Amino acid sequence: MGNEEMPLPNKYENFNEWYNEILQKAELIDLRYGVKGFIVYRPNATVIMREIYRLFEKELDRLKHSPCIFPVVIPLEFFEKEARHIKGFLNEVFWIMRAGQHELNKPLVLRPTSETAMYPLYAFWIRSYKDLPLKLYQSNSVYRYETKATKPLLRGREFYWIEAHCAHRTKEDAERQVLEDMEVMSKALHEVLGVPFLLLERPPWDRFAGAERTYAFDVLFPDKSVLQIATTHILGENFSRAFEIVYKDVDGTLKYVQQTCFGIGISRILATLISVHGDEYGLVLPFDIAPTQVVIIPILFKDVGKVVMEKCRALFERLKNEGYRVVLDDSDDRPGAKFYRWEILGVPVRIEVGPKDVERGMVTLFRRDTRERIIVEEKDVERKIEELRRDILRVLRERGEKCLKESLRDVKNRDDLMKLAREGGIGRMAFCGREECASEIKAETEGFEVRGVRVNEKWGKLGVCAACGKEAKEIVYVAKPY
Ligand SMILES: [Zn+2]
Repeated sequence: MGNEEMPLPNKYENFNEWYNEILQKAELIDLRYGVKGFIVYRPNATVIMREIYRLFEKELDRLKHSPCIFPVVIPLEFFEKEARHIKGFLNEVFWIMRAGQHELNKPLVLRPTSETAMYPLYAFWIRSYKDLPLKLYQSNSVYRYETKATKPLLRGREFYWIEAHCAHRTKEDAERQVLEDMEVMSKALHEVLGVPFLLLERPPWDRFAGAERTYAFDVLFPDKSVLQIATTHILGENFSRAFEIVYKDVDGTLKYVQQTCFGIGISRILATLISVHGDEYGLVLPFDIAPTQVVIIPILFKDVGKVVMEKCRALFERLKNEGYRVVLDDSDDRPGAKFYRWEILGVPVRIEVGPKDVERGMVTLFRRDTRERIIVEEKDVERKIEELRRDILRVLRERGEKCLKESLRDVKNRDDLMKLAREGGIGRMAFCGREECASEIKAETEGFEVRGVRVNEKWGKLGVCAACGKEAKEIVYVAKPY
């Protein structure tokens, strides 16, 4: 009964082709909008993104962040206030120069990120240590005039994310906030999304414009490139001095707030779920994030249709009342066509009910991750689904971890580095810490970048830099980013 025709190529052999095809065949996005770097999110993509948004918003709410909405336009005088910030973003912003028949005498920028939109208001809102911490986030889209090649969901000129901006009383509070951000991200990736990652402190030349320290989550893609999906930054007093965000401390003195910001790339997490978990049959979604968690498919024959449909409806009501996101596919399509469609959409568990199953009081469960069928007694369905919820996550996570582990290479010298450049993967090497050396590595390997130092990694003796032979100061990870 299963559909054995594979709708997609092998993603490890030809990732680009696989990725473009899955975006079309799963009806995720449409590229025909006609503006470079801007894509249309179709319902199948939008509902997954909505689940990803909910996952993080719920967690931020729990950690006492509050939601807010700021305008998409930023006045130039705000945008210019922090010198490094404007330097970092100037070539990437979209400008609004004209409205109606008039040239604007004060041009506006479309937010590339919202520090300079939010912080002038923080200066009004924060007066005393009692107003701290101020922890606000917004779920929004931002705009960057990317000049590199764009790729749907991975690199676009408009993308969706959550940006959380916090103001704290002390440096220690700011440090704790960044640890909390890391924990939010690590937990979601590990316990819900099943995606392994590298948490790296970016080198000084790769920090967010205006940050003192930048920590980033990189994930590995099937073509062995890496994608940054989230960052959290210590901003220190860089912005609070520029925007005059001061508070009266317990002892009555005026002080600048200590700031942090945290960006969670929702479009990029969607791209990651598609790419890391998907296979030749389509999407494979972790149970907790799947818009449809269980689909029930009646296997109908003319004379016994009624009893099968009744069983399916009863099962549907039961699972819906248990709180599952469940769909009963009672359309006129053949079962094979339904299997094919729900597999492409990555629904984690499918329940098939045929006349023989009804007779025996059994149902057939199909798990999307391993494509195995399991026959269970009807009364055990919920228990089995709960088991699958955990086991699907485990399988997806272990697959991802295996790929990540297999792609990691120790780079001991220049030859190893060139081998890494040819074969792809993530290199781990002793490094001198010099930007100049990182630039040379990038030029010679055609795009491998020093991504930074792994957070909490213990080092032994360092020796010399694998690239230049000078004294090594740290162990870094090098990889080719999108
Ligand atoms: Zn070096």
